[in-house]
Amino acid sequence: MNEARMRLEEQLRQKTLEKGNMADNLVRFAYDAMKRAYAPYSNFMVGAALLGRNGKIYIGCNVENSAFSPTCCAERNAFFHAVADGCRKFEAIAIVGGKDGKVTDYCPPCGVCRQVMTEFCGPSFLVILSRSATDRKVFQLRELLPESFKLS
Ligand SMILES: [Zn+2]
Repeated sequence: MNEARMRLEEQLRQKTLEKGNMADNLVRFAYDAMKRAYAPYSNFMVGAALLGRNGKIYIGCNVENSAFSPTCCAERNAFFHAVADGCRKFEAIAIVGGKDGKVTDYCPPCGVCRQVMTEFCGPSFLVILSRSATDRKVFQLRELLPESFKLS
């Protein structure tokens, strides 16, 4: 396990709000990204902050479309942003969301986004769900999508 991952897991255990704490930073970035959501049809706004192994944070928000099918979730938006930037290895993602941008509960990723995570991340990739600045749940990808599809 690399040093950055070990530090991140330690910060997740602390559950404190400190400057320089990457877990807290990811949650903060996710909240900021949520404000940019384009969700005029569902009014359900979601933000995601994805930590690349290169140390960069890639944000995403959901972008809806009146034709519905072209709608893209915040998580996939963040992943595709990262891939377009040349990053294909990741440590963790923080996700927040709620009706009208008010976060009242955890916002787990949809099945399609879980499959996209599986494309780029190993089974120990961390998924951080937050419903307040200090209230979070952390999963490993293997828990959210067991027996995932792989073309091999
Ligand atoms: Zn999704």
